[in-house]
Amino acid sequence: MDRRTMVKSGAAALVVMGIGGCRAAGPPRVAAARPPRPRVNLAPVRVSWDRVIRTTVGLRPHRDGGFVLRADKLDEKVLIHNYGHGGAGMSLAWGCGTLVGDLADPAGVRRAAVIGCGSPGLSTARQLQRRGYDVTIYAATVPPDTTSNMSWAGYTPTSGLIEPERRTPAWDAQFRTAAEVSYRQLQLMVGPRYGVYWIDSYNATDDPNPRPRGGGDGDLLPEPLRTGRDREVLGPGEHPFPTQYAIRQSNLAIEPSIYLDALVRDFLAFGGRLVIRRFESRRELAALPEPVIVNCTGLGSFSLFDDKELVPVKGQLTVLVPQPEVDYRASARLPDDSNASINPRSDGIVVGNSQERGVWSMEPNEEIRKRNVDNAIAFFSRMAPPAPGTRLTRSEAPRVTPAVERFFDWRDAH
Ligand SMILES: Cc1cc2nc3c(=O)[nH]c(=O)nc-3n(C[C@H](O)[C@H](O)[C@H](O)COP(=O)(O)OP(=O)(O)OC[C@H]3O[C@@H](n4cnc5c(N)ncnc54)[C@H](O)[C@@H]3O)c2cc1C
Repeated sequence: MDRRTMVKSGAAALVVMGIGGCRAAGPPRVAAARPPRPRVNLAPVRVSWDRVIRTTVGLRPHRDGGFVLRADKLDEKVLIHNYGHGGAGMSLAWGCGTLVGDLADPAGVRRAAVIGCGSPGLSTARQLQRRGYDVTIYAATVPPDTTSNMSWAGYTPTSGLIEPERRTPAWDAQFRTAAEVSYRQLQLMVGPRYGVYWIDSYNATDDPNPRPRGGGDGDLLPEPLRTGRDREVLGPGEHPFPTQYAIRQSNLAIEPSIYLDALVRDFLAFGGRLVIRRFESRRELAALPEPVIVNCTGLGSFSLFDDKELVPVKGQLTVLVPQPEVDYRASARLPDDSNASINPRSDGIVVGNSQERGVWSMEPNEEIRKRNVDNAIAFFSRMAPPAPGTRLTRSEAPRVTPAVERFFDWRDAH
C-alpha cells in the first residue's frame, strides 16, 4: 500500500492531537481487514537534560472576542487595527494583511506606517508593498526579539483564537479569508529560503478514533463542511511508538528565526524602511508623517490602545541540541493527561509547549520546563529504534494539499 494511502475514518473521527477522554465507543474502526504494512522507521530523538540548550517564553496576545481587524480614525489619519491573534498569529498573518489592504485602499493614498515587526506586522507590510504602498515599519523590537520568534509555529489557524459564543458572522468571514489567503501564501513559501516546510506529524495513541470534542474554536466551520480529513492510522507493528496506534498527518511548519528574518529582508529589498521606536501614546502615533497607520502591536495594544480585553497566554518551549536526522513531529497524551511532544527545527528540537492565561512574566516556569522535558524523556525513550539495515522514513510533501478546513480541527495548545 502506498505510503500516503489515507485511512478515512468517517465523520465521527475528527483529528485532534491527544486522546484524553475521547475514546470512541466500540472496537477500533481502522485497519480492519488489511495485512500489516512495513513499519515506519523514524530516527530516534535523543531527549535528555544534558541536551537542553535553551528555554524560551512568549506571550500570546489573546482576546476572548478574537482578533481585531477594523478601520478607525486618528485625527485626519486612517488607523487600521490588526492585533490580538492569540495562538494563530503565525497562521493568519498573510490573510489579515490582505484585509488590511482592503481597508486602506479607499483612502486613496499610497503611504503607510505599520507599527510592530512580528509576523502580523511584517506580513501586513509586505501585502501593502505588493499593492504599491510606500511602507515604514516602526517597532520597539524586531526579530529575534518578538513574540513571533518564540512561537511553536505550525499552521494552526484556530488555536487559542476566540470564545465560540463571541463569534459573529462578520468576524467569521474575516477569519475565513485570513485562513485561506495565509494557507495559500505559506504553501508558496515552502523551502529553505523561508524556513517553511511540510512535515509528518504523528499522534501516538491507543485510540485511533478520538471523538470530536464539542464547542471551542475548532467549530469555526460546520462539521459537514470539514473535508480532507487525510489521516493515516498506523496500527500495531507499523510504527515505532509505545502505543497501539500512530495517526500520521502532513502539516505545515514554520521555522520562526529563518522565516521572520527572510520577511525583514524582503521588506527592505522592496524599499521598506524600518525604524526602532516605542510609542507611549496615540498622540505620538498621530504625529507620524504617514496618512495610514496600521496597528500590529499585539499585546502592546493593551496599553497603547487601552484594550483591556487583551490577555497574555504565556507559552514556553524548551529546545534541545539539533538532530538533523529527526524530520517528523510527534506527540502523545500521557496517562496523567499531560503531553509529550517534539517539534524538530534546524536550530534545535523543540520539546513541549504550554498555555498560562493571564501570566505576564517572561521568566521560564521551572515546573513546566521540568514536566515538558521529563515527559519527553519518559515517552520518547520508549520508541523502537529503526530496524537494522532499513532506510529511515522521511517527511514528504502531501500528494494532495489538505483542504484548509482540516487544520481547523487542531485543538491542542499552540
Ligand atoms: C509558545 C508559543 C507557541 C505558539 N504557536 C503558534 C503556532 O503554532 N501557530 C501560530 O500561528 N501561532 C502560534 N503562536 C502565536 C504567535 O506567535 C502570535 O500570535 C504572534 O507571534 C503574535 O504576533 P504579534 O505581532 O501580535 O506580536 P509580536 O511578534 O510580539 O510583535 C509585536 C510587535 O509590536 C511591537 N510593539 C508592541 N508595542 C509597541 C509600542 N508601544 N511601540 C512600538 N512597537 C510596539 C513589538 O516590539 C513587536 O515588534 C505561538 C506563540 C507562543 C508564545
